[in-house]
Amino acid sequence: MAWNEVKLKNKQDFVAIINQQQRIQVDPSSMFDVQVKRIHEYNRQHLNVLHIVTLYNRIKDNPNTEITPRLFVFGGKAAPGYFMAKRMIKFITSVARVVNNDPDVRDRLKVFFIPNYNVKIGHCVYPMTDLSEQISLAGKEASGTGNMKFSMNGALTIGTLDGANVEIREEVGPDNFYLFGLTVEEVMSRQASGYRPMDYYYSNESLKRAIDLIAQGHFSHGDRDIFKPIVDSLLYDDQYMLFADYQSYIDCQDTVAKTFMDKSKWTRLSILNACRMGKFSSDRSIMDYSRKIWDVQPFPIKLKWQQLPENGVLFSPAPPGKKP
Ligand SMILES: *Cc1c(COP(=O)(O)O)cnc(C)c1O
Repeated sequence: MAWNEVKLKNKQDFVAIINQQQRIQVDPSSMFDVQVKRIHEYNRQHLNVLHIVTLYNRIKDNPNTEITPRLFVFGGKAAPGYFMAKRMIKFITSVARVVNNDPDVRDRLKVFFIPNYNVKIGHCVYPMTDLSEQISLAGKEASGTGNMKFSMNGALTIGTLDGANVEIREEVGPDNFYLFGLTVEEVMSRQASGYRPMDYYYSNESLKRAIDLIAQGHFSHGDRDIFKPIVDSLLYDDQYMLFADYQSYIDCQDTVAKTFMDKSKWTRLSILNACRMGKFSSDRSIMDYSRKIWDVQPFPIKLKWQQLPENGVLFSPAPPGKKP
């Protein structure tokens, strides 16, 4: 099918780049699971890494376990003075080194961190993505635009009810959006009654194992200090409540993995996502601002080469004097 051929071509182009940059071999038919955005604790790149470590543990328990092959891609800038964000990059690349080189993993999981992510690389990244990671804690993201770029390029979204994820889900339909995690109201009520990450840690076996493996230095040549700031923040005073969303995220990822293996279903969902994103066009958005926020009228400009319509109006504004 033509839709899949376009996606495959974009994936092959990306595979060629990472193979050249870091000698990582990737099967382009695997799921391309991508999180590109500023590195920040609220964006919860470390929740994504906890999923990778959880899959890694499943493979170590049983090397023949059924697993959907995935390439995990991360990219984004960290502010120079933001210690935790810089440490998060180290965390991602350290888990990548172990996972990419473990013979038990057998090329089923690959992790790649894009150096110096920018808009130009974005042109290559958004169209090659199967799964878009929009996993901030509900209530933290104002809007997000990356989520829109992915969806209009045929990626499915795994995400929380945060920022523009809410509107994207309304447009593409709840059956075509992988929703997980607490709502804003649930976040507020848990914070009011005191969020205790330790309760989750002690009651969730796979979460505890993932955290223990990281704390023991498995991904850092035995160094137990390097990821201590991340682990301690998650265990003791995490504003971003990763542990509260962990199991819901893992369960949702398992559903995503299963659906991806049904090629015709995934293709259908991908097409629906792209087709239903019309609302997010920049023309519609600027028109909305003109009417509701700026209260400005369109002004026809006549360029030498341009033949304007009879009435000189390129699009119809709100009637003058009427404020919404
Ligand atoms: C779109 C974009 C962003 C913003 O991504 P969000 O997911 O909306 O935070 C950041 N950096 C680059 C290069 C982008 O193209």
